[in-house]
Amino acid sequence: METAARTAPAAVIVAIDGPAGTGKSSTSKAVAAKLGLGYLDTGAQYRAITWWMVNNGIDVEDGVAVADAARKPVIVSGTDPAAPTITVDGTDVSAPIRTQEVTSRVSAVSAVPEVRQVITELQRTIATEAPRGMVVEGRDIGTTVLPDADLKIFLTASAEARAARRSGELKGKDASDLAATQAALAKRDAADSGRKASPLAKADDAVEVDTTDLTLDQVIECVVTLVEEKRAAA
Ligand code: C5P
Repeated sequence: METAARTAPAAVIVAIDGPAGTGKSSTSKAVAAKLGLGYLDTGAQYRAITWWMVNNGIDVEDGVAVADAARKPVIVSGTDPAAPTITVDGTDVSAPIRTQEVTSRVSAVSAVPEVRQVITELQRTIATEAPRGMVVEGRDIGTTVLPDADLKIFLTASAEARAARRSGELKGKDASDLAATQAALAKRDAADSGRKASPLAKADDAVEVDTTDLTLDQVIECVVTLVEEKRAAA
């Protein structure tokens, strides 16, 4: 009789990258939950370090000051897809990292090479600790953080679809909110794609999925199928 250890699928690492508003977080969490994998939101880690910089009076436009402070905060990510958590020095920051203040500053902080080094080390450690594997979402997971990932997905969507989804997540939205959201997303994507250190980019071996005309369920199904195909071929 085969043992459970022999029949259990090997750990699988799935990298899901793409710009903001493409459905990365919703897709990644659902895929991880369906397949019994861990889930790591790397954007939350960059937001957490940004929150710490702002709270400690560091000028985020001062790259030297940000670099000097990069190793000070202790960031801990909980990887249960049903209830992901993020703390900084023991404080739950899951709500404050989503404020407009942090969102507008995170690209400046994440462009600092020392910040990326600290956060990348953390991400690699977390990814290897997951017994059944993990879905890791971000901007540079397939290219830099986990270039040996078993499956790499790059999610895209039209600028209009991304802004509509993002503003749909906000309360009391109207046409001016939509235009402002689209402008803010474009600005953040330009900064994330244009920075020197590990920019937002599609890995050569990533599967690109355009989510513009797909429902969330369709995107989830597509990614789950791709993971299952990879496992079957392994
Ligand atoms: O995914 P989310 O929108 O929360 O990411 C916030 C920011 O964190 C991005 O705009 C980007 O500046 C940074 N980020 C990054 N590399 C990653 C994930 C996020 O630079 N792997």
